[in-house]
Amino acid sequence: MDGENANRIGVAILGSTGSVGRQVLDVIDALPDRFRVVALAARGRSPLFQQQVSRYRPEVAAVADQEGPDLIGAGALVTSTEGLVAAATHPEVDIVVVATSGHDAISPTIRAIELGKTIALANKETLVCAGEIIMPLAAASKTVIRPVDSEHSAIWQAIGTSSPDEISRLLLTASGGPFRTMSMAEMAGVTARQALAHPTWSMGGKITVDSATLMNKGLEVIEAHWLFGMPYDKIDVVVHPDSVVHSIVEFVDGSQIAQLGLPDMRVPIQYALTYPERLPRQGKRLDLATIGALRFEQPDEDRFPALRLARQAGLAGGTYPTVLSAADDEAVAAFLEDVIAFTDVAGIVSDVLDRHTPSGPLTLDAICAADQWARGTARDIIDSLPRS
Ligand code: MG
Repeated sequence: MDGENANRIGVAILGSTGSVGRQVLDVIDALPDRFRVVALAARGRSPLFQQQVSRYRPEVAAVADQEGPDLIGAGALVTSTEGLVAAATHPEVDIVVVATSGHDAISPTIRAIELGKTIALANKETLVCAGEIIMPLAAASKTVIRPVDSEHSAIWQAIGTSSPDEISRLLLTASGGPFRTMSMAEMAGVTARQALAHPTWSMGGKITVDSATLMNKGLEVIEAHWLFGMPYDKIDVVVHPDSVVHSIVEFVDGSQIAQLGLPDMRVPIQYALTYPERLPRQGKRLDLATIGALRFEQPDEDRFPALRLARQAGLAGGTYPTVLSAADDEAVAAFLEDVIAFTDVAGIVSDVLDRHTPSGPLTLDAICAADQWARGTARDIIDSLPRS
């Protein structure tokens, strides 16, 4: 390692071409003396990934596809799913940013934790599906899992140095999505295009639809349970359409501490990278006087049943959260292809959960098997629905 690199924190980005991955690179670009990109991983050899590899010249560039043009500028090119492991475990990597979608990163994340690397977690499935496996491992290897998601970052920041027995409740805020005020009948007719127009956050397609159904918030409740070791009955959701208060922690003395800011993922990303320090950052600042008022309301679980389903799956534990997430994935894909109605998504997830028979203790194999089963079952249900 040369002198210039010795003082910089080595970063691996799993999922560097996605929405979060690109914003991680924005944050690193603004702090070139502090961070160095050691490994980049993406699903395929897109022009964007080639641009990233040429620009950052990582020690490892990893792609899932075996065939395709060479990536110019990479120290080493690793193909197949082993690529994620190579990126996450490279000896010069200090922080692994897990920003892939789906389950692919669960096993590389476990490998990185075993090596004591710091995890900056932006992937939902890792804790939703495997929190029961990952959190004990992280505790055993004294690995800190730093949340990147804005709500969990807010809770993490609000908790600060407080001890667990000082916390009485976590309050996750939800924007409520674009259909917050619609009736069930109106929601039944919404299109994929309408669902993709998120009022406050700009994100990928799947997560934007999940925000509209509130499934995203349900998955975040499960993540919060694992990240902060909170029982489900002490994790609440409050709808906050302004997306300014990113979440709240209530303490045993009744005080509530919230973290506020404009909706910009680069803020929680930077904090996850620089923790425990806070570094200056350019950008617009929240101006509460201009906003004038902040709105909060109770989530309506009759119109947004995904929230209740997620809580039930979380409480049931084992492979139930995996089934929830996989069935939702298939249902959202079918909605985005205009095959099912928006309001069918939660019903399909509910049916798949009802049909699930859990197996023995939770293992990665059990998670994969439950995922495959849930996807197949969801597709069978989707195929059996009457076409409008
Ligand atoms: Mg979030």
